[in-house]
Amino acid sequence: MVKVQRNKFIALKYRTLNGNLSLWSITQNESSYAVKSADKIRYAETGMKRKSLYYFITFYKFSVTEKSQMDLRLSNKDRKKTSLYLASFALIILIILALAISFKNDSAHNKSGTVSAADVLINEKNVVKVAKDKDGNIYMEENKLFKKYTIKVSSAIKNINYKQDDNAVLISFDKDVPLKLNSEINDTNSKYIYMTNDNGKNNLKFKKSYKDNNFVYINSGKDSNEIIVLVSKVKKPFTHKAVLNPGHGGIDSGQSVGNLYEKDITLRIVKLMVSDLQYNGVDVVLTRDKDEGQALADIAAFVNKIQPDVFLSVHINGMDENPNNYQGIGVYYYDENGYQTNERIKLANMVLKHATMSDGWKNDGVVRDKLKVIRLSKAPAVLVETGFLTNDSDRARLQNDKVLGNLANNLSQALVEYVNEK
Ligand SMILES: [Zn+2]
Repeated sequence: MVKVQRNKFIALKYRTLNGNLSLWSITQNESSYAVKSADKIRYAETGMKRKSLYYFITFYKFSVTEKSQMDLRLSNKDRKKTSLYLASFALIILIILALAISFKNDSAHNKSGTVSAADVLINEKNVVKVAKDKDGNIYMEENKLFKKYTIKVSSAIKNINYKQDDNAVLISFDKDVPLKLNSEINDTNSKYIYMTNDNGKNNLKFKKSYKDNNFVYINSGKDSNEIIVLVSKVKKPFTHKAVLNPGHGGIDSGQSVGNLYEKDITLRIVKLMVSDLQYNGVDVVLTRDKDEGQALADIAAFVNKIQPDVFLSVHINGMDENPNNYQGIGVYYYDENGYQTNERIKLANMVLKHATMSDGWKNDGVVRDKLKVIRLSKAPAVLVETGFLTNDSDRARLQNDKVLGNLANNLSQALVEYVNEK
Protein backbone atom coordinates (compact mmCIF):
# COMPACT_ATOMS: atom_id res chain seq x y z
CA MET A 1 0.00 0.00 0.00
CA VAL A 2 2.64 2.44 0.98
CA LYS A 3 5.89 3.02 -0.72
CA VAL A 4 8.62 4.91 1.00
CA GLN A 5 10.40 7.31 -1.27
CA ARG A 6 13.34 9.48 -0.79
CA ASN A 7 12.44 13.04 -1.41
CA LYS A 8 15.20 15.55 -1.54
CA PHE A 9 13.00 18.36 -2.54
CA ILE A 10 9.70 19.28 -1.09
CA ALA A 11 7.17 17.08 0.60
CA LEU A 12 3.64 18.23 0.38
CA LYS A 13 1.82 17.38 3.54
CA TYR A 14 -1.86 16.74 3.55
CA ARG A 15 -4.39 16.01 6.14
CA THR A 16 -8.05 15.20 6.03
CA LEU A 17 -10.51 17.79 7.04
CA ASN A 18 -14.07 16.50 7.13
CA GLY A 19 -13.14 13.93 4.55
CA ASN A 20 -11.56 16.42 2.14
CA LEU A 21 -7.96 16.55 1.14
CA SER A 22 -6.48 19.92 1.87
CA LEU A 23 -3.19 21.69 2.06
CA TRP A 24 -1.50 21.33 5.37
CA SER A 25 1.98 22.61 4.86
CA ILE A 26 5.06 22.42 2.71
CA THR A 27 8.15 21.05 4.33
CA GLN A 28 11.57 19.96 3.29
CA ASN A 29 11.89 16.32 4.06
CA GLU A 30 14.37 13.55 3.44
CA SER A 31 11.85 10.77 3.27
CA SER A 32 8.15 10.70 2.87
CA TYR A 33 5.32 8.46 1.87
CA ALA A 34 3.56 8.32 -1.40
CA VAL A 35 0.29 6.53 -1.64
CA LYS A 36 0.60 3.87 -4.23
CA SER A 37 -2.43 1.79 -4.67
CA ALA A 38 -5.33 3.93 -3.62
CA ASP A 39 -6.73 4.50 -7.07
CA LYS A 40 -8.88 7.34 -5.89
CA ILE A 41 -5.80 9.43 -5.48
CA ARG A 42 -4.15 8.09 -8.55
CA TYR A 43 -2.68 11.47 -9.34
CA ALA A 44 -0.09 10.75 -6.73
CA GLU A 45 1.63 8.19 -8.87
CA THR A 46 0.65 8.93 -12.43
CA GLY A 47 1.14 12.65 -12.47
CA MET A 48 4.45 12.40 -14.25
CA LYS A 49 2.70 11.07 -17.27
CA ARG A 50 0.02 13.69 -17.37
CA LYS A 51 0.39 16.95 -19.12
CA SER A 52 -1.40 19.03 -16.58
CA LEU A 53 -0.46 21.46 -13.87
CA TYR A 54 -0.09 18.48 -11.67
CA TYR A 55 2.94 17.44 -13.62
CA PHE A 56 5.00 20.06 -11.85
CA ILE A 57 4.01 18.81 -8.48
CA THR A 58 4.83 15.18 -9.01
CA PHE A 59 8.06 16.20 -10.59
CA TYR A 60 9.12 17.19 -7.14
CA LYS A 61 7.73 14.02 -5.68
CA PHE A 62 4.35 14.70 -4.41
CA SER A 63 3.96 12.89 -1.13
CA VAL A 64 1.57 12.23 1.67
CA THR A 65 3.33 12.02 4.98
CA GLU A 66 0.74 10.82 7.42
CA LYS A 67 -0.23 7.21 7.50
CA SER A 68 -3.77 8.13 8.40
CA GLN A 69 -4.14 9.41 4.89
CA MET A 70 -3.40 6.06 3.32
CA ASP A 71 -7.00 5.14 3.02
CA LEU A 72 -8.46 8.39 2.14
CA ARG A 73 -11.68 8.03 0.32
CA LEU A 74 -12.20 10.76 -2.10
CA SER A 75 -15.48 11.34 -3.80
CA ASN A 76 -15.57 12.89 -7.27
CA LYS A 77 -16.62 16.10 -5.68
CA ASP A 78 -13.61 16.01 -3.41
CA ARG A 79 -11.39 15.33 -6.33
CA LYS A 80 -12.49 18.52 -8.02
CA LYS A 81 -11.67 20.44 -4.90
CA THR A 82 -8.39 18.62 -4.74
CA SER A 83 -7.44 19.69 -8.21
CA LEU A 84 -8.05 23.27 -7.19
CA TYR A 85 -5.67 22.80 -4.33
CA LEU A 86 -3.22 21.16 -6.65
CA ALA A 87 -3.37 24.11 -9.00
CA SER A 88 -2.50 26.40 -6.11
CA PHE A 89 0.30 24.06 -5.19
CA ALA A 90 1.67 24.08 -8.66
CA LEU A 91 1.83 27.84 -8.56
CA ILE A 92 3.58 27.89 -5.20
CA ILE A 93 6.08 25.31 -6.34
CA LEU A 94 6.82 27.16 -9.54
CA ILE A 95 7.54 30.26 -7.49
CA ILE A 96 9.79 28.33 -5.12
CA LEU A 97 11.51 26.76 -8.09
CA ALA A 98 12.11 30.12 -9.71
CA LEU A 99 13.49 31.49 -6.46
CA ALA A 100 15.70 28.45 -6.00
CA ILE A 101 17.11 28.78 -9.51
CA SER A 102 17.81 32.49 -9.14
CA PHE A 103 19.41 31.88 -5.76
CA LYS A 104 21.58 29.16 -7.21
CA ASN A 105 22.72 31.44 -10.01
CA ASP A 106 23.43 34.24 -7.56
CA SER A 107 25.74 32.12 -5.48
CA ALA A 108 27.37 30.74 -8.60
CA HIS A 109 28.43 34.13 -9.86
CA ASN A 110 29.37 35.39 -6.46
CA LYS A 111 31.87 32.60 -6.35
CA SER A 112 33.31 32.82 -9.82
CA GLY A 113 32.75 36.48 -10.56
CA THR A 114 31.12 35.72 -13.89
CA VAL A 115 27.72 36.59 -15.17
CA SER A 116 24.87 34.26 -14.37
CA ALA A 117 22.37 33.18 -16.95
CA ALA A 118 19.42 35.14 -15.72
CA ASP A 119 18.59 35.05 -19.41
CA VAL A 120 16.19 37.91 -19.37
CA LEU A 121 17.62 38.90 -22.69
CA ILE A 122 17.60 35.47 -24.23
CA ASN A 123 13.88 35.24 -23.73
CA GLU A 124 13.27 38.56 -25.34
CA LYS A 125 11.84 38.90 -28.81
CA ASN A 126 13.93 39.76 -31.86
CA VAL A 127 17.23 39.00 -30.20
CA VAL A 128 20.15 38.77 -32.59
CA LYS A 129 23.53 37.67 -31.43
CA VAL A 130 26.18 40.13 -32.44
CA ALA A 131 28.34 38.60 -35.12
CA LYS A 132 31.98 37.74 -34.54
CA ASP A 133 34.44 39.26 -36.94
CA LYS A 134 38.11 40.09 -36.89
CA ASP A 135 37.34 43.57 -38.19
CA GLY A 136 34.72 44.07 -35.55
CA ASN A 137 33.29 47.26 -34.07
CA ILE A 138 32.99 46.04 -30.50
CA TYR A 139 36.16 45.35 -28.61
CA MET A 140 36.23 43.87 -25.16
CA GLU A 141 38.89 43.75 -22.53
CA GLU A 142 38.54 42.82 -18.92
CA ASN A 143 40.33 42.82 -15.61
CA LYS A 144 39.26 41.61 -12.19
CA LEU A 145 36.95 44.58 -11.71
CA PHE A 146 35.28 45.35 -15.03
CA LYS A 147 34.49 44.21 -18.51
CA LYS A 148 35.21 47.12 -20.78
CA TYR A 149 33.48 47.29 -24.14
CA THR A 150 34.60 49.83 -26.70
CA ILE A 151 32.07 50.29 -29.48
CA LYS A 152 33.06 52.06 -32.67
CA VAL A 153 30.16 53.76 -34.35
CA SER A 154 30.07 55.70 -37.60
CA SER A 155 30.18 59.47 -37.30
CA ALA A 156 26.90 59.59 -39.21
CA ILE A 157 25.08 58.34 -36.17
CA LYS A 158 23.82 61.37 -34.36
CA ASN A 159 21.38 60.06 -31.87
CA ILE A 160 22.77 57.52 -29.50
CA ASN A 161 20.91 56.99 -26.26
CA TYR A 162 21.49 54.67 -23.42
CA LYS A 163 19.68 53.45 -20.39
CA GLN A 164 20.10 50.79 -17.77
CA ASP A 165 17.86 48.47 -15.89
CA ASP A 166 18.84 45.99 -13.22
CA ASN A 167 19.83 43.38 -15.78
CA ALA A 168 21.40 45.17 -18.67
CA VAL A 169 22.93 48.26 -20.17
CA LEU A 170 21.09 49.19 -23.35
CA ILE A 171 22.40 51.46 -26.08
CA SER A 172 20.02 52.56 -28.83
CA PHE A 173 21.17 53.58 -32.27
CA ASP A 174 19.11 55.72 -34.56
CA LYS A 175 19.87 53.76 -37.71
CA ASP A 176 20.50 50.25 -38.80
CA VAL A 177 24.17 49.82 -37.89
CA PRO A 178 25.91 46.53 -38.53
CA LEU A 179 28.00 45.97 -35.45
CA LYS A 180 30.38 43.05 -35.15
CA LEU A 181 32.32 41.70 -32.24
CA ASN A 182 36.04 41.58 -32.52
CA SER A 183 37.15 38.00 -32.99
CA GLU A 184 39.48 38.32 -30.02
CA ILE A 185 36.46 38.30 -27.78
CA ASN A 186 35.90 34.72 -26.80
CA ASP A 187 32.57 32.97 -26.89
CA THR A 188 32.14 33.03 -23.15
CA ASN A 189 32.06 36.79 -23.21
CA SER A 190 30.30 37.30 -26.50
CA LYS A 191 27.16 35.67 -25.20
CA TYR A 192 26.59 38.61 -22.90
CA ILE A 193 26.12 40.97 -25.81
CA TYR A 194 22.94 41.08 -27.83
CA MET A 195 21.31 43.20 -30.43
CA THR A 196 17.57 43.66 -30.52
CA ASN A 197 15.62 45.44 -33.23
CA ASP A 198 12.64 47.41 -32.00
CA ASN A 199 10.77 50.24 -33.67
CA GLY A 200 13.44 50.87 -36.28
CA LYS A 201 16.18 51.08 -33.66
CA ASN A 202 19.11 48.87 -32.99
CA ASN A 203 19.43 48.20 -29.32
CA LEU A 204 22.74 46.86 -28.18
CA LYS A 205 22.54 45.12 -24.83
CA PHE A 206 25.20 44.20 -22.36
CA LYS A 207 24.21 41.89 -19.58
CA LYS A 208 25.12 43.04 -16.11
CA SER A 209 26.56 40.98 -13.30
CA TYR A 210 25.65 43.53 -10.69
CA LYS A 211 23.00 46.13 -10.82
CA ASP A 212 25.28 48.99 -9.64
CA ASN A 213 28.61 50.39 -10.83
CA ASN A 214 28.01 50.01 -14.54
CA PHE A 215 28.88 52.98 -16.73
CA VAL A 216 28.39 54.29 -20.26
CA TYR A 217 30.43 57.03 -21.90
CA ILE A 218 29.34 58.29 -25.29
CA ASN A 219 32.07 59.73 -27.55
CA SER A 220 34.63 59.13 -24.84
CA GLY A 221 37.01 56.73 -26.47
CA LYS A 222 40.38 57.38 -28.02
CA ASP A 223 38.61 58.42 -31.21
CA SER A 224 35.44 60.40 -31.32
CA ASN A 225 32.39 58.29 -31.98
CA GLU A 226 33.46 55.63 -29.57
CA ILE A 227 31.27 54.44 -26.77
CA ILE A 228 32.74 52.90 -23.66
CA VAL A 229 30.68 50.55 -21.54
CA LEU A 230 31.97 49.35 -18.20
CA VAL A 231 30.20 46.37 -16.68
CA SER A 232 31.27 45.63 -13.14
CA LYS A 233 32.42 42.12 -12.28
CA VAL A 234 32.47 42.69 -8.54
CA LYS A 235 30.01 44.38 -6.26
CA LYS A 236 32.37 47.13 -5.09
CA PRO A 237 34.97 47.78 -7.79
CA PHE A 238 36.43 50.99 -6.38
CA THR A 239 39.39 50.91 -4.01
CA HIS A 240 40.54 54.54 -4.44
CA LYS A 241 39.21 57.94 -5.35
CA ALA A 242 40.55 60.77 -7.51
CA VAL A 243 39.33 64.31 -8.10
CA LEU A 244 40.04 65.76 -11.54
CA ASN A 245 39.88 69.44 -12.35
CA PRO A 246 39.56 70.55 -15.98
CA GLY A 247 41.22 73.98 -15.91
CA HIS A 248 39.15 77.14 -16.49
CA GLY A 249 35.54 77.26 -17.71
CA GLY A 250 32.71 79.71 -18.31
CA ILE A 251 33.86 83.22 -19.16
CA ASP A 252 37.41 82.19 -18.27
CA SER A 253 38.57 80.39 -21.41
CA GLY A 254 42.22 80.06 -20.41
CA GLN A 255 44.62 79.97 -23.35
CA SER A 256 43.08 80.44 -26.75
CA VAL A 257 44.16 80.32 -30.37
CA GLY A 258 41.40 81.05 -32.86
CA ASN A 259 38.43 78.94 -31.89
CA LEU A 260 40.49 76.66 -29.68
CA TYR A 261 40.02 77.22 -25.98
CA GLU A 262 41.98 75.69 -23.13
CA LYS A 263 38.77 75.22 -21.10
CA ASP A 264 37.28 72.92 -23.78
CA ILE A 265 40.38 70.79 -24.30
CA THR A 266 40.99 70.30 -20.57
CA LEU A 267 37.38 69.18 -20.16
CA ARG A 268 37.77 66.74 -23.05
CA ILE A 269 40.97 65.24 -21.57
CA VAL A 270 39.48 64.88 -18.12
CA LYS A 271 36.30 63.26 -19.43
CA LEU A 272 38.41 60.79 -21.38
CA MET A 273 40.21 59.86 -18.17
CA VAL A 274 37.08 58.81 -16.28
CA SER A 275 36.56 55.37 -17.81
CA ASP A 276 40.29 54.56 -17.63
CA LEU A 277 40.43 55.34 -13.94
CA GLN A 278 37.21 53.56 -13.11
CA TYR A 279 38.28 50.51 -15.06
CA ASN A 280 41.31 50.37 -12.77
CA GLY A 281 39.34 50.70 -9.55
CA VAL A 282 39.66 54.45 -9.03
CA ASP A 283 36.40 56.28 -8.52
CA VAL A 284 36.39 59.72 -10.14
CA VAL A 285 34.86 63.04 -9.17
CA LEU A 286 35.10 65.98 -11.59
CA THR A 287 35.14 69.57 -10.35
CA ARG A 288 33.08 70.42 -13.44
CA ASP A 289 31.64 68.35 -16.27
CA LYS A 290 30.43 71.25 -18.37
CA ASP A 291 31.46 74.73 -19.42
CA GLU A 292 31.17 76.64 -16.17
CA GLY A 293 33.47 78.92 -14.21
CA GLN A 294 34.86 78.05 -10.78
CA ALA A 295 36.91 80.03 -8.26
CA LEU A 296 40.23 78.36 -7.45
CA ALA A 297 39.55 78.51 -3.70
CA ASP A 298 36.18 76.81 -4.26
CA ILE A 299 37.84 74.04 -6.24
CA ALA A 300 40.32 73.41 -3.42
CA ALA A 301 37.52 73.47 -0.82
CA PHE A 302 35.60 70.95 -2.94
CA VAL A 303 38.63 68.67 -3.11
CA ASN A 304 39.16 68.89 0.63
CA LYS A 305 35.54 67.96 1.24
CA ILE A 306 35.79 64.88 -0.99
CA GLN A 307 39.14 63.80 0.54
CA PRO A 308 40.40 61.84 -2.47
CA ASP A 309 43.60 59.81 -2.62
CA VAL A 310 44.88 62.12 -5.32
CA PHE A 311 43.97 65.40 -7.01
CA LEU A 312 44.94 66.37 -10.56
CA SER A 313 44.36 69.73 -12.18
CA VAL A 314 44.70 69.76 -15.98
CA HIS A 315 45.71 72.89 -17.88
CA ILE A 316 47.30 73.87 -21.18
CA ASN A 317 50.18 76.25 -21.39
CA GLY A 318 50.77 79.20 -23.70
CA MET A 319 53.44 81.72 -24.62
CA ASP A 320 52.79 84.85 -26.64
CA GLU A 321 56.37 85.73 -27.52
CA ASN A 322 58.30 83.33 -29.74
CA PRO A 323 55.52 80.73 -29.30
CA ASN A 324 57.30 78.04 -31.29
CA ASN A 325 60.22 78.07 -28.87
CA TYR A 326 58.02 76.76 -26.07
CA GLN A 327 56.47 73.34 -26.10
CA GLY A 328 55.93 70.16 -24.10
CA ILE A 329 54.29 68.86 -20.96
CA GLY A 330 55.22 70.21 -17.56
CA VAL A 331 54.03 69.21 -14.09
CA TYR A 332 53.68 71.60 -11.15
CA TYR A 333 53.61 70.86 -7.46
CA TYR A 334 53.72 72.91 -4.29
CA ASP A 335 54.57 71.91 -0.73
CA GLU A 336 53.70 74.69 1.65
CA ASN A 337 55.96 74.49 4.75
CA GLY A 338 57.19 71.13 3.57
CA TYR A 339 53.68 69.65 3.43
CA GLN A 340 53.80 66.28 1.60
CA THR A 341 57.02 67.28 -0.17
CA ASN A 342 58.19 63.79 -1.04
CA GLU A 343 54.75 62.53 -1.93
CA ARG A 344 54.01 65.45 -4.21
CA ILE A 345 57.34 65.25 -5.98
CA LYS A 346 56.84 61.55 -6.46
CA LEU A 347 53.36 62.16 -7.90
CA ALA A 348 54.66 64.93 -10.18
CA ASN A 349 57.37 62.68 -11.57
CA MET A 350 54.93 59.84 -12.18
CA VAL A 351 52.53 62.13 -14.01
CA LEU A 352 55.31 63.60 -16.14
CA LYS A 353 56.80 60.21 -16.98
CA HIS A 354 53.49 58.77 -18.13
CA ALA A 355 52.15 61.89 -19.84
CA THR A 356 55.15 62.13 -22.16
CA MET A 357 55.14 58.45 -23.12
CA SER A 358 53.27 58.71 -26.43
CA ASP A 359 53.04 60.92 -29.47
CA GLY A 360 56.36 62.73 -29.17
CA TRP A 361 55.49 65.13 -26.37
CA LYS A 362 58.49 67.09 -25.13
CA ASN A 363 59.31 66.73 -21.46
CA ASP A 364 59.09 70.21 -19.91
CA GLY A 365 60.03 69.03 -16.43
CA VAL A 366 58.72 69.18 -12.88
CA VAL A 367 58.40 72.66 -11.41
CA ARG A 368 57.74 73.82 -7.85
CA ASP A 369 55.24 76.67 -8.14
CA LYS A 370 52.88 78.34 -5.69
CA LEU A 371 49.65 77.67 -7.60
CA LYS A 372 46.56 78.20 -5.52
CA VAL A 373 44.57 75.14 -6.47
CA ILE A 374 47.33 72.68 -5.57
CA ARG A 375 48.60 74.72 -2.63
CA LEU A 376 45.21 74.60 -0.87
CA SER A 377 44.56 70.91 -1.55
CA LYS A 378 45.13 68.66 1.45
CA ALA A 379 45.22 65.59 -0.79
CA PRO A 380 48.42 64.95 -2.78
CA ALA A 381 47.99 67.25 -5.76
CA VAL A 382 49.70 68.27 -8.98
CA LEU A 383 48.84 70.50 -11.90
CA VAL A 384 49.78 69.32 -15.37
CA GLU A 385 50.21 71.65 -18.33
CA THR A 386 49.54 69.34 -21.26
CA GLY A 387 51.46 71.16 -23.96
CA PHE A 388 51.44 74.71 -25.33
CA LEU A 389 48.37 75.73 -27.29
CA THR A 390 50.48 78.51 -28.82
CA ASN A 391 52.99 76.03 -30.27
CA ASP A 392 52.20 74.69 -33.73
CA SER A 393 53.15 71.07 -33.11
CA ASP A 394 51.62 70.90 -29.64
CA ARG A 395 48.43 72.50 -30.98
CA ALA A 396 48.24 69.85 -33.70
CA ARG A 397 48.46 67.17 -31.01
CA LEU A 398 45.78 68.85 -28.92
CA GLN A 399 43.41 68.77 -31.90
CA ASN A 400 43.98 65.08 -32.52
CA ASP A 401 41.45 62.77 -30.86
CA LYS A 402 43.84 59.87 -30.81
CA VAL A 403 46.57 61.90 -29.11
CA LEU A 404 44.12 63.18 -26.51
CA GLY A 405 42.96 59.62 -25.92
CA ASN A 406 46.53 58.45 -25.36
CA LEU A 407 47.24 61.41 -23.13
CA ALA A 408 44.16 60.72 -21.00
CA ASN A 409 45.11 57.08 -20.79
CA ASN A 410 48.67 57.91 -19.75
CA LEU A 411 47.61 60.45 -17.13
CA SER A 412 45.17 57.89 -15.74
CA GLN A 413 47.89 55.25 -15.58
CA ALA A 414 50.05 57.65 -13.57
CA LEU A 415 47.29 58.18 -11.03
CA VAL A 416 46.50 54.48 -10.86
CA GLU A 417 50.15 53.70 -10.25
CA TYR A 418 50.38 56.42 -7.63
CA VAL A 419 47.32 55.42 -5.56
CA ASN A 420 48.27 51.77 -5.66
CA GLU A 421 51.82 52.43 -4.44
CA LYS A 422 50.67 54.77 -1.72
ZN1 LIG B 1 45.27 77.10 -17.48
